[in-house]
Amino acid sequence: MAGAESPNRSPEIRKDGINNRWVIFSPARSRRPSDFKSKSNPNPNNQSECPFCKGHEHECAPEIFRIPADSTSDWRIRVIQNLYPALNRDLHFRNHEDSSSHGDVSVSGFGFHDVVIESPVHSVHLIDLSPAEVGDVLLAFKARIDQLRMNDSIKYVQVFKNHGASAGASMSHSHSQMIALPIVPPTVSARLNSMKEYYEQTGNCSLCDTRVDDLIINESTHFKSVVPFAATFPFEIWIIPRDHSTYFHDLDSEKAVDLGGLLKFMLLKMSSQLNNPPFNFMIHTSPFQVDPSYLPCCHWFLQIVPQLSGVGGFELGTGCYINPVFPEDAAKILREVKVPDQK
Ligand code: AMP
Ligand code: ZN
Ligand code: ZN
Repeated sequence: MAGAESPNRSPEIRKDGINNRWVIFSPARSRRPSDFKSKSNPNPNNQSECPFCKGHEHECAPEIFRIPADSTSDWRIRVIQNLYPALNRDLHFRNHEDSSSHGDVSVSGFGFHDVVIESPVHSVHLIDLSPAEVGDVLLAFKARIDQLRMNDSIKYVQVFKNHGASAGASMSHSHSQMIALPIVPPTVSARLNSMKEYYEQTGNCSLCDTRVDDLIINESTHFKSVVPFAATFPFEIWIIPRDHSTYFHDLDSEKAVDLGGLLKFMLLKMSSQLNNPPFNFMIHTSPFQVDPSYLPCCHWFLQIVPQLSGVGGFELGTGCYINPVFPEDAAKILREVKVPDQK
């Protein structure tokens, strides 16, 4: 159901075949898709008290590595431990689970929670960096994942970015986080199983098979950016490798620059169209040690979610989301929005 933005379109319920969940598209009567703008203040902390700034390294939890690696030179990117980690890297991972009589299960809170500081300068964000510099941030994620996956107890690494207070950020200095888990999270298992089911029915990977047509925003040499067919959130964007790729950590230097350029371009478009909204991005890769039968159907992608509306009781109750903007309309607007020339 393609076409220009239409305020009179009737609601439609679409199934997101990758994540196996339903989304209700219900166009907001009062607002046209192009009227969606962020109103929130994106800057939680200020520079004077920022431990992530150059010169304040001693205020941070220990460094894991920096780029460039030479400790005497000025750094461009630092990967550090999180001072308030969600999981504890020093715990001994107990492989057995403790079960209660209700079927609830617990394992020890072992895992790694790291922070990637993306620039030494407080005011510089990903959109201010060149494609090669954004590519270096992506390669820092890869390098840290390569270290973490050597640990046999680690099953999955989630890379994510919170930008802006209502997207969960407490620090405004440009950074991302990585949490390495001893379990495979339920959304990851659900995605894997859903993609496997599609593969068994069709013989194809569902993301290789994505029909983009009116959902495409842009394409680069190795990646395409789209609004997904059943986008959970208004103006959500997925950046997908054009060739089948199971793991984000297989990214090489050439692809990193290419992805860096497209990611920057999408963030610029989103920022320009939606008035610099708070946002999250997540890298959805595949679990380590996965059964080889999953490899042909698992395809990683990067999801960008601008935070324009909160989650309410209906979403919490049903797991179904209501999205007021049809993906075709969001894609058209994002395709057409002009941004300043890239560096
Ligand atoms: P966010 O809250 O999403 O902005 O992420 C910032 C993260 O940085 C939080 O998870 C904090 O626990 C962490 N953090 C805050 N101060 C420090 C510090 N001095 N050294 C290392 N991590 C920190
Ligand atoms: Zn700072
Ligand atoms: Zn694929």
